[in-house]
Amino acid sequence: MIRSLLIANRGEIAVRIIRTCREMGIRTVTVHSSADAGSLHTRLADQSVCIGPHDSSESYLNVRNIISAACATRCDAIHPGVGFLSENAGFAQAVRDAGLLFVGPEAETIRLLGDKIQARHSALKAQVPVTPGSMESIGSLKEAKRIAKEIGYPVILKASAGGGGRGMRIVKEEQELEQAISIASREALAFFSDGTVHMEKYLTNPRHIEIQLLADGKGHVVHLGERDCSVQKNHQKLIEESPSPIIDDHMRERMGSDAIRLFRQLGYKGAGTIEFLVQDGSYWFMEVNARVQVEHPVTELVSNTDIIRQQLLVASGKSLELPDRTTRLYGHALECRVNALTPGKVTLFNPPLGPAVRVDTHLFQGATISPFYDSLVAKVIVHTPERQRSIDAMIRALIEFDIGGITTNIPSQLVILRSKQFRSGSFGTDLHARLFPEEKKR
Ligand code: ADP
Repeated sequence: MIRSLLIANRGEIAVRIIRTCREMGIRTVTVHSSADAGSLHTRLADQSVCIGPHDSSESYLNVRNIISAACATRCDAIHPGVGFLSENAGFAQAVRDAGLLFVGPEAETIRLLGDKIQARHSALKAQVPVTPGSMESIGSLKEAKRIAKEIGYPVILKASAGGGGRGMRIVKEEQELEQAISIASREALAFFSDGTVHMEKYLTNPRHIEIQLLADGKGHVVHLGERDCSVQKNHQKLIEESPSPIIDDHMRERMGSDAIRLFRQLGYKGAGTIEFLVQDGSYWFMEVNARVQVEHPVTELVSNTDIIRQQLLVASGKSLELPDRTTRLYGHALECRVNALTPGKVTLFNPPLGPAVRVDTHLFQGATISPFYDSLVAKVIVHTPERQRSIDAMIRALIEFDIGGITTNIPSQLVILRSKQFRSGSFGTDLHARLFPEEKKR
């Protein structure tokens, strides 16, 4: 079993991982940039090592310094968390080359899934339906026009190496195509150092539904049901829930068994998520996230599973522990992401407490939110017997949440939670744009 773990991340996810490690008796070492000295993940870990300046390319993305820190502090494994190096195949390989365990899938699997075109090929091979579109990178304009005509406008151009909702462009008609391809490919090169772009049919107002999987790398693969992440702003998730109000047992089992088939084919090891788009009872594969996800807590609550614990067991060569063999989801869980809209010092911090509430955060009174990193500062998660009660509990929790010194998106999250559309469960990925039309125009 892993005895000492280096966590190559920061913020709430680093804190989340430390918590499970402490419960399992695993010693933790965190790394931090100079801007993060004194932050919660450095304070809660058994040890913390400064690995560079505030710029993440020299700290949280600095493979050499991270691996040196792990070796110098005698760690036997590295957990990459979310973002930063978590889906970087070169990092996973370098960790293994240094003789350390990597908490995640094999480097080869990460490499394959990081290329959205290759991932689409894998899904098709496993007989999982994929969104109609190109199965190769966009070559000539002529070819792009032909595919777009075949699948029908609107289409979406995607950076094949992309992620985080960036590098996507919707094209409504043929006249826009040429310019859109050149912008998309320039953006893809700038963000992801790879200008490869592919095309998919753009579904109007679908649901984003994803299946959480766990695999031991020895052929045992289970799914823990779905998460509905349809509440998004600019393709980035804001509110997630499980189970989804639009997925019944039959659909869950169909999507779950497709997902398991794909993971078996990939020889996948660890925790991973398959993202789908759903519309009118049909679903299409979008991509695989080969890591733990920000929204994992909703699944933890409804499936009664500590996902980080399972990751650590699998990385140590052990079997998965699961409460039962069948996928049973208990009650309903809802997560709201709390994002800081401004950097600054947190002068007051009163998180919500009471029945049904969990808060994953790295904030405390006196903490500094620096402008250099992700704006996610807390996740409020509630778990109740049913969806309507979860919404009521979340509204209560967000009203209670008092963060002084910075502004957050809590007011707009409350607008969404109080909307008729969200309460009814019948909405799509354009809910945010419909509720905040003035933001769309900007
Ligand atoms: P990323 O990897 O950058 O997160 P994804 O491919 O997962 O990108 O897509 C992010 C979001 O963009 C989806 O949840 C969905 O809202 C929207 N999206 C992506 N592909 C399509 C599509 N073909 N049709 C409609 N919406 C899409």
